[in-house]
Amino acid sequence: MYQTSKLFPIFLVLMFSMSSCAQKNRATVQQFEVNKTETEWKKILTPEQYAVLRDKATERPFTGALLKNKEDGTYRCAACNYPLFTSDAKFESNCGWPSFDGEIEGHVIKQDDNSLGMHRTEILCARCGSHLGHLFDDGPTETGLRYCVNSLSLGFEGADAIQSNMANAIQLDTITMAGGCFWCMEAVFEELKGVTSVISGYAGGEAKDASYYTVSDGNTGHAEAIQVVFDSSVITLAEVFKVFFTMHDPTTLNRQGADQGSQYRSAIFYRNETQQKTANELIAAFTKEKVYDNPIVTEVVKYDGFYKAEEYHQDYFANNKNQPYCRAVIQPKMEKFEKIFKDLKKDEINK
Ligand SMILES: [Zn+2]
Repeated sequence: MYQTSKLFPIFLVLMFSMSSCAQKNRATVQQFEVNKTETEWKKILTPEQYAVLRDKATERPFTGALLKNKEDGTYRCAACNYPLFTSDAKFESNCGWPSFDGEIEGHVIKQDDNSLGMHRTEILCARCGSHLGHLFDDGPTETGLRYCVNSLSLGFEGADAIQSNMANAIQLDTITMAGGCFWCMEAVFEELKGVTSVISGYAGGEAKDASYYTVSDGNTGHAEAIQVVFDSSVITLAEVFKVFFTMHDPTTLNRQGADQGSQYRSAIFYRNETQQKTANELIAAFTKEKVYDNPIVTEVVKYDGFYKAEEYHQDYFANNKNQPYCRAVIQPKMEKFEKIFKDLKKDEINK
């Protein structure tokens, strides 16, 4: 009797925790790009953020810091920094929580939520599985959707690039690199896990402004470059550089394949001592190990501004896959990338 009474509650607890795990943690059985234990999440999130993002609590209506935000920018997951909604999709719903009529495609996961005796659709960050809020089909715009999101689940990145509300441990780093045609480099880095944005543009020139027209003359001194923002808790700077060195030829001066001119030079534009040191150490190691037959000519120079290229250059490969240059030059690079760096590739869901 003594033994039974002792075991019975344990059995009950087991039953309860098994069924509750199956229900509550349905999202966590999927593989997320950012996977942390609950203890790790507790370390980087405030108690209020943890309650909402990980324990699926709902913040009190009309209390959220981003409820009335009307600035242009991007709303990101407060736990992992993944971009979720753009300011274009935000609308005033008067429900008390920030509301959006659409997501950044594929960045939000939906699942059934039958808690509290009702049927709702829960929304989660596709990169880390954190709880965002719920999705309703009573939106006033043509999508008919209302993504009702806890302000605590979101961080905001405005035009001045200041992040607010983000978890402490998100370590965003920005690096600017030139390795020939920016269409090619952008296509590769878009596929890399931990990368939150890649912009094609121009760097390293004398002129105070740059455009494709002036840069392609080769007289402004700018190089076609990409600016990559990545989360160094997911991918290290050294890994980013390794991909950079593998995906172009760092031994040909002012040239990549058929593309010739100083605008196609190989360069790393460092913003701080860590970036400078990591780049130089990697070059020294490659040289010592004779990874390349010829000397590496990559410039490691101080960052001195970046000019975003014209809109039609952004996401060029994704939008022009059948264009001859893409098929001849970029496609083989993508295949090489997939082969060598398959462990560093984003999961399908995180693209
Ligand atoms: Zn997330």
